[in-house]
Amino acid sequence: MVEMKFICDRMLGKLATWLRISGYDTLYIGDVVGEKVQDEDNYMLENLHDRILLTKDRELYRKAKKSGRKAFYISSNDVAEQLKEVKKLGVVFQPVMDRCSVCNTPLRKPSNEEAVKVMKREGISEDLTERYELWYCEKCRKLYWMGGHWRNMVRFLRKIEE
Ligand SMILES: [Zn+2]
Repeated sequence: MVEMKFICDRMLGKLATWLRISGYDTLYIGDVVGEKVQDEDNYMLENLHDRILLTKDRELYRKAKKSGRKAFYISSNDVAEQLKEVKKLGVVFQPVMDRCSVCNTPLRKPSNEEAVKVMKREGISEDLTERYELWYCEKCRKLYWMGGHWRNMVRFLRKIEE
């Protein structure tokens, strides 16, 4: 099975984050706009055809379908409900240390030097390297570990998968 990839419209930033947390390669149009894109609707319609367009915009959804694009309309405003809607596509929501939830970059293990640098910058006094396995986004220079935040995500996603 080919892994599904997504692009989320402007209204679906939180949904994009949860897809990334679950390991799905997901672009958020809000991150792309400004760099090279002015008309975001056209950009989403005309580019990135290997990605399923997730949108809350009925008009955009209709246009996408008309042009033979893979698109999925999200009706709910509530993020938990949105996740349930996306599950209909076969998406499995479970946190995996795979990609950065902020920027979609694949995570890797940090060097000790990188880990120390982040802990110092973020004012983390506890030595994370001793207690946790760490992952690192080299674009955001951000560390990930399975701490309290992780457990909250697991709990939230477990409810969705029930
Ligand atoms: Zn990142």
